[in-house]
Amino acid sequence: MKKTVLWTSALIAALTLISTIIAQQPRPVDAKVLRTAGTAKDAMPGAWLTYGLTQTEQRYSQLKQIDESNIGKLGLAWSAPLTTPGGRGGTEGTPLMWNNTIYQTMDNSIVYALDARTGEQKWMYDAKIDPITPSHMCCGTHNRGLAISDGKLILAANDARLIALDAISGKELWQSKVADINQYYSITIAPRIAGDNVIIGVGGGEYFIRGFFAAYSLKDGKLAWKFHTVPPPPGQPFEDKAQEDAAKTWTGEWAKYGGGGAVWDGLVYDPELNLVIAGVGNPEPWPVEMRGMTKENWAKFANLYTNSIVAVDAKTGKLKWYYQTVPNDAWDLDAVGGFIMADIQIDGKARKVVMQAPKSGVFYIIDRTNGQFISAEPFVPINWATSFDKKNNGRPVINPDAFYDQNKAVMIYPGGGGAHNWAPMSYNPNAGLVYLPYTAGSYNFVAAPEPNPKAGGGAHGLGFGGGKERQTPMPIWGPDNVGRGGLQARDPKTNQIKWVKTGRGGNIGGGTLTTASNLVFQTAGTTLYAYKADTGDELLAVPFNLGGPAPPITYMVDNTQYVGFATRTHFLAMKVGGTEKMPDAPPPAGFGRGKGDPKAAPAPPPPDAGKELHGQGKQ
Ligand code: CA
Repeated sequence: MKKTVLWTSALIAALTLISTIIAQQPRPVDAKVLRTAGTAKDAMPGAWLTYGLTQTEQRYSQLKQIDESNIGKLGLAWSAPLTTPGGRGGTEGTPLMWNNTIYQTMDNSIVYALDARTGEQKWMYDAKIDPITPSHMCCGTHNRGLAISDGKLILAANDARLIALDAISGKELWQSKVADINQYYSITIAPRIAGDNVIIGVGGGEYFIRGFFAAYSLKDGKLAWKFHTVPPPPGQPFEDKAQEDAAKTWTGEWAKYGGGGAVWDGLVYDPELNLVIAGVGNPEPWPVEMRGMTKENWAKFANLYTNSIVAVDAKTGKLKWYYQTVPNDAWDLDAVGGFIMADIQIDGKARKVVMQAPKSGVFYIIDRTNGQFISAEPFVPINWATSFDKKNNGRPVINPDAFYDQNKAVMIYPGGGGAHNWAPMSYNPNAGLVYLPYTAGSYNFVAAPEPNPKAGGGAHGLGFGGGKERQTPMPIWGPDNVGRGGLQARDPKTNQIKWVKTGRGGNIGGGTLTTASNLVFQTAGTTLYAYKADTGDELLAVPFNLGGPAPPITYMVDNTQYVGFATRTHFLAMKVGGTEKMPDAPPPAGFGRGKGDPKAAPAPPPPDAGKELHGQGKQ
C-alpha cells in the first residue's frame, strides 16, 4: 500500500516535471509555421519569423493594439546597446522575434539575442569574418537579417559563409562555405527558408564574380542546388539549358571579368507555386565595351540573367521563368530590392503577382505563375528607357543615347544607388497600397580605360570626374510630383501614386511596415514616422540621433504590442505609454567602411543621396 502511494507520487511528480519542461519549450518554427507566419492564420501570432514578416514579404502586420487613437502616446519601452566590435556599428538588418527574443544582425556578421520585453542581452554571436572582407566588398560589411526554422537561426556571414546557430543558446551548429571572399564573393542578403532548404545569394557584382543563388539543407548545410545568373566562361560545360540559352546573349571577351549578376537583396519563396524568385544585379564591368561589345552591337546582347527577376523550382533550382528588367545594363540598375507577392485584381482579373521597385526606377508587376509581364511604370523620372514593349512581354526599349564610353559621358536618371535600394517597402491589402521609399536623382556616367579591382567601391570600370562630352540632354519621363526622394504610397491596381511624403526615405536606409490598424511605420534618417495607411496623414515623428536606422518590425509579447528597430548604436523598442529616455550615445562617424569616431556627431544623411555613387550598403 505504502509502496503504491510512493510510486504514484513519484509518477505524478515525474509527469508534472515533464509537462513543465514541455510547457517551457517554445514551439519551434518549421515550414508549416512559416507558411502562415504573420498572416491572419498565424500559428504564432505576435512573432516576426521571416525577413518580410510573411512569406509574401508584405510586411503587413495583423497587430492592431497600436492604432490611431493611442499612437500619440507611443514612447520608448526599452533600449539595448548594440556595440559592434571593430567600431563600425552600422546596420541594415530586419530583426526576427521568436520565443520572446529579438534577433538582430549588425554589420561584420554579428548577432544579438535580446529579451523582447526588457532588452536584456541573452547572447551575442560574432562570426569573426575574414579580416580581408571589408577591402573585398564594395559598400560596407552590412547584413540584412536572419532566417529561422528547425530550431536554427541562419546567419549569412559577409565573407560568404552560411552559419546555423541554435536559436535558444546561440551555439554554432554547422557552417557552409558558399563562396570565396578571396575571389571577391561576399554576402549581405538575408537568407530565406524554402521548405527544408535555406536560400542564399552572393554579393560582389562590382567585382569579377560569376553570380549565383543557391539552396542549402537546413539540416546540415549541404548544398542542394545552385543557379548561376551568368553562363560559364566560353569553352566550359553548361550546367543546364538555362546556361546554354544565356551564353547566346553574351559576346566577346566578357568572361575575363566574371560577368557579375550578384543576388544581394531581393529573394522570395512561394510555397504554393514551389518557386524561389530572385532579383539579379548588374553585369560586370558596367561599360558595355568592357563586356566585349561596341556601340553598334551592344543592344543585341541582353547579358542574361543579369538585371532579371528569375524564378526557379524551389526543389531543383531549375529555371521556370525570368523577366529581364534592363537588358544589357550599363548603369548599375540592379534588379534588387525586396519583392512583394500579392493576389490582386488587375483589370477585373485575379492575378498572383510579384512586385519589385528596383534601382531602375520602374515599378514592375509580373504574374508570378508564369513570368508574364503586367506593367512597368516609372516611380521616379527616368531616361535609360523610352518605353516598354507590351507586345514583347514588357521588354524595355533602351534609349540609344544612354550609351557612354571613355569619351562620352551621359547623365542618367535615376542616379547612383538607384531609385530604390534595400530599404524595404510594404503592402497593405486593406488600403490597397504599396509604401515605397525612393530617391530621385541622376548620375553622370563615363567609362574608365579599364576596370580596376583595387579601386575603392569595386571594379565597375567607371571613370570619375567626367568625360570630354558631358551631360547629353535626353528626355526624362515619369512622375513629376516626387521631389528628390521620399515615401510614396502606390496603388498597384492602377499604378497611381495615392500620397507622397517628400524628403524622407529613399536609399538612405530604414524602411517601412504597415498594420491592420491602418498604420504605416517608417524609419528614415533620424526619425521614426507613423502615418495613416490610407491617407498618409502624419500621426507621429519620434526623433533619435543614433545613426542607421534599420527597418522597423512590430511584435506582441505579454499582450503588449511593440515597434522595434536597430540604430547604429542601440535597439529601440517602443510601446504605448513607454516613458524611457532615448539614449544619447553618439553614433560612430562615417558610413560602412569608416573607422568610427565616438566623439564625432553623425552627419544626418542627405535628403537626396542619389549623387553618391556608393554609400551605405548600396550595391
Ligand atoms: Ca550593382
